Amino acid sequence: MGALLGPAEIRDLAAKLDVTPTKKLGQNFVHDANTVRRIVASGRVATDSRVLEIGPGLGSLTLGLTETGASVTAVEIDGRLAAQLPATVSAMQPDARLEVVHQDALAITATDLPEAPTHVVANLPYNVSVPVLLHLLATFPSIERALVMVQAEVGYRIAAGPGSKVYGAPSVKAAWYGSWSIAGQVSRQVFWPVPNVDSVLVGFDRHEPPGDEALRAQVFALVDGAFQQRRKMLRQSLSGVLAGSARASELLTAAGVDPTARGEALSAEDFVRLGRTVLAAAE
Ligand code: SAM
Repeated sequence: MGALLGPAEIRDLAAKLDVTPTKKLGQNFVHDANTVRRIVASGRVATDSRVLEIGPGLGSLTLGLTETGASVTAVEIDGRLAAQLPATVSAMQPDARLEVVHQDALAITATDLPEAPTHVVANLPYNVSVPVLLHLLATFPSIERALVMVQAEVGYRIAAGPGSKVYGAPSVKAAWYGSWSIAGQVSRQVFWPVPNVDSVLVGFDRHEPPGDEALRAQVFALVDGAFQQRRKMLRQSLSGVLAGSARASELLTAAGVDPTARGEALSAEDFVRLGRTVLAAAE
């Protein structure tokens, strides 16, 4: 096994690059080798994996990924960090298979990457973790497995089902692409600087989507409508998306959904059935 970055190396690298971690970019760097190896193992990364890492920062997790022999593409928005990463990794692991892409992960498309990824493994920038995940899963159907570290509140939200207080639009949208589960909690002490929120690991396994792009767009519009006004009955919260509350009631009833229920009572499958009913009625 190659070496990983510890607290002293992280601070030295940051000082050398004159990097003061910024909150805006969610820059909290991991300096604990056990956490890095735990993330890589939970991600089920193997030699033949093509891993996409978002936000490699100073390279803590990147080194854990490349030491498995996997091929890694790391997408980093901060130019100083992106420029330094190849040198950091090759100094410690001369045979590492790494490509660094200096770009905003929210804007990457297939032409920006050297290969189609099979895995996403990342300590995500916390302020954009849900939009980044949804963008990656929509853009790269080749992704089969993901293991990401996110703010605990966000992780529980993504993995939630109906009946849970934190169930919401991110839970239903994420479920379109596959199944999610909490893979463990992470201490604040493994980061520099120490964040003021807790973190969890979230695992993802892709399944066949329930339908095509037209159905996905319809389902996501219904989900946005239902959860933007989550305390309202569906016939009201969906009146904007479904041409008035009378029409909304008709379509909900036709889909087997109680028009007086609230969005938080509907499962991802209920939203899909409603989406199908709405599209069929428009034909
Ligand atoms: N992976 C490193 C680690 O574990 O130590 C750093 C993780 S830090 C939580 C998040 C990283 O994402 C930072 O390096 C930050 O510059 C980068 N980042 C923030 N927003 C980004 C975006 N939209 N696209 C790509 N990288 C981003």
